[in-house]
Amino acid sequence: MTTVFQAPQSATFANMELSAVTRGRTVPIERLDDVLEGGLPWVPTNVCISSVNTIPPDNPFGPMGETKIIPLPHTRMILPERADRPAMALYLSEIAHHDGAFWPACARSQLRQALSDLNTQYGLTLKAGFEHECYIDNLQDTPTAAYSLAGARKVSGLAHEVQAIMATAGTRLDQFVAEFGVNQFEISSPVREGLGAADHAVLAREAVRDAARGREAHATFAPKPHLGEAGSGVHIHLSLWDSNGVPQTAHAGSLTATSGAFAAGILNHLAAVMAFSTPTPNSFQRIHESSWVGVFSCFGVRNREAALRLAPRTPLADGSHPGASMEFRLCDGSANPYLALAALVRAGMIGLNKALPAPVSIEQDPATLSAEARAAHHIERVPYGVEGCLQAAAPLAEDWFGPLFWQAYEAVRRNDMSDAARLADAYPSMLSKII
Ligand code: GLU
Ligand code: MG
Repeated sequence: MTTVFQAPQSATFANMELSAVTRGRTVPIERLDDVLEGGLPWVPTNVCISSVNTIPPDNPFGPMGETKIIPLPHTRMILPERADRPAMALYLSEIAHHDGAFWPACARSQLRQALSDLNTQYGLTLKAGFEHECYIDNLQDTPTAAYSLAGARKVSGLAHEVQAIMATAGTRLDQFVAEFGVNQFEISSPVREGLGAADHAVLAREAVRDAARGREAHATFAPKPHLGEAGSGVHIHLSLWDSNGVPQTAHAGSLTATSGAFAAGILNHLAAVMAFSTPTPNSFQRIHESSWVGVFSCFGVRNREAALRLAPRTPLADGSHPGASMEFRLCDGSANPYLALAALVRAGMIGLNKALPAPVSIEQDPATLSAEARAAHHIERVPYGVEGCLQAAAPLAEDWFGPLFWQAYEAVRRNDMSDAARLADAYPSMLSKII
């Protein structure tokens, strides 16, 4: 099958908003240069719309104000022509005040600020790589086995097209594999500097969705679309680099003092981070013990039951680990990737600021440790719902992201809770139609 990318007829300028929906405005291609130059007006309240299309009644913007879409030309990706859909150019964008100044409810702007603070205050650069799990339903009826060749073959046409779409943005996926669940797949984005990594996550989700739609299939990144099947996580691989480009994540098989302090900051504030990384009631339908989600606030070398796992890869003879990453496992596709990463950076910076000691490596499923052993290592079970995470985040979030942001964000998350209560059993499937 040939994929046709020529002559996009329109351009969409989009931002991933607080509910992890990519929203924006579309113009005919003749207006492209004007919009790249001058941006487009945007409605502040839109940032708060839920993933099932409700507006939080107590959002701080109401009918007032105007913000501006600022396109990011280097993120352009072309969505190909299909039967009745001409090719379309997609540009990721930031949302700014109408005069172009920083607007705190723009998730991408918040990540940019967090990464800049990490660099200014600690001389560190963060790189990240996102792994997304997703279900692609209606692809083909035949069930295939976990991680199997048959599963890889089943998805190979779609995977090939996703790579072609991403190539129009000058990039690709590192892997597209069959996962454990029936019709569950995993895509791995390449490692990029933090902001580029989160951009890649958004582009990858949209490329997969578009290629699925083109086959009358449906891709969802919802954390638990099918209650009886494996959940879908988003694993974020983090690495720290100094100003000379020297890797600071691991040495001789363990975390360095720098990455150890960063990791301890994340684990000490895990519930607060989860307000941004596992933010919806559906997130907690995925979060269970002993299911490789990482429900305990612990670190472990190569441990897939730890919230933070060191993936050291093979060290060089001098003990350095250029390929090492800390894999944060308590994130999912209902989270905005910019905010999940920004919260990790902010929590990690608390650890750096206090020069916290590196967490002990737990080398078994922490669910099998006694309560005393967990207490001895300050290992806690994460909250059972969004409420506990919001309460943990409340004392920190205004400092991390500012009061206006927190007011908007808390309104969004509480509105999700009422959406979920109202929709009851229909909630996971409604959510999975959108995200
Ligand atoms: N599906 C699991 C999750 O919900 C992760 C499985 C894996 O380690 O790939 O996080
Ligand atoms: Mg996986």
